[in-house]
Amino acid sequence: MFDLIIRRARFIDGSLNDVAVANGKIAALGEIKEQAAHEYDLAGRFYLSAGWIDSHVHCYPKSPIYHDEADCIGVATGVTTVVDAGSTGADDIDDFYQLTRSASTRVYALLNIARTGIVTQNELADMTQIDRVGIRDAVQRLPGFIIGIKARISSSVVGANGIRPLALAKTIQQENGGLPLMVHIGNNPPDLDEIADLLTSGDIITHCYNGKPNRILTPAGELRASVHRALQRDVRLDVGHGTASFSFEVARAAIAQGILPHTISSDIYCRNRLNGPVRSLAHVMSKFFSVGMTLPQIIDCVTVNAAQGLRLAQKGRLAVGFDADFTIFDLQHQSCSFIDSEGVTASGEKQLLPLAAVVAGRWFVTEEGKKQHVFDL
Ligand SMILES: [Zn+2]
Repeated sequence: MFDLIIRRARFIDGSLNDVAVANGKIAALGEIKEQAAHEYDLAGRFYLSAGWIDSHVHCYPKSPIYHDEADCIGVATGVTTVVDAGSTGADDIDDFYQLTRSASTRVYALLNIARTGIVTQNELADMTQIDRVGIRDAVQRLPGFIIGIKARISSSVVGANGIRPLALAKTIQQENGGLPLMVHIGNNPPDLDEIADLLTSGDIITHCYNGKPNRILTPAGELRASVHRALQRDVRLDVGHGTASFSFEVARAAIAQGILPHTISSDIYCRNRLNGPVRSLAHVMSKFFSVGMTLPQIIDCVTVNAAQGLRLAQKGRLAVGFDADFTIFDLQHQSCSFIDSEGVTASGEKQLLPLAAVVAGRWFVTEEGKKQHVFDL
């Protein structure tokens, strides 16, 4: 017996399918004859994809700089899983874990290698902030919650330490079973070439389309040789839009050369959610129509690619046995205007509007869905 059936959902390939859920997992797909206690008929009007995963957010409610509530950036906007990228370190990760257990959105963390997390902007300017024993203990205490580590490697964060915190992050990664490592890039020093040369298979560069001098393109607009070599070693590119880290110019030029992101993430927190230029993951995703990506490519970046990069084995695909996490959304064709982190605008013709999020078979109508009254059943 099924707990939930969603009927006539439009998949990204255009096909219409029923999806059945039992015990929080996908139990059947295709044309389903049986019935369930709860059923929704989308009548082919709306898309359904695997639940959207935002690979880079900030939602430690007590963070003095980058705080938000998980459900405001999660289920309220169609995102079923958020991954906090380094708001907390070994000192406050337990508090973050406790505070997010009541959220409807699934919350995971990349542990900041600095023990205090991001309390100030320069958490890696003091090397004694990196406590290897503290990190190991935290990873062992919270294995299902800490899914990787985060190192912010830009001038304002590392001060005079240059590349040293990243070298130590690579050691820490090895000491902890080769967890995914996400590296933030921004202003130099250290130079992006120095950073890229240290990264190995599976490591993630976030803020990959930033418009600062430490961008992935040379002044002539070509991909830096160091980043090219890193991509050949299976280093991954994550968008991490944020307040200051996304440039239409860089994204457009890179994507035209075939340098697509592996993951599209928001780097959202309350201020760039309310005031822009981030607003929501859907808003960030919609910008990628304007720089040359297709709907299937964009959706892959928040589902299968995100699950692969962060090793979330039960997520990211519509397949029997996977988590019953879905995002139900509309693709609206209308003129719209977007703004990047440099204050540059771009016009678009398409916008993704998430209407509902389903987490382990539990249905949440988004803010947009409430406005449109489409699920007032
Ligand atoms: Zn961030």
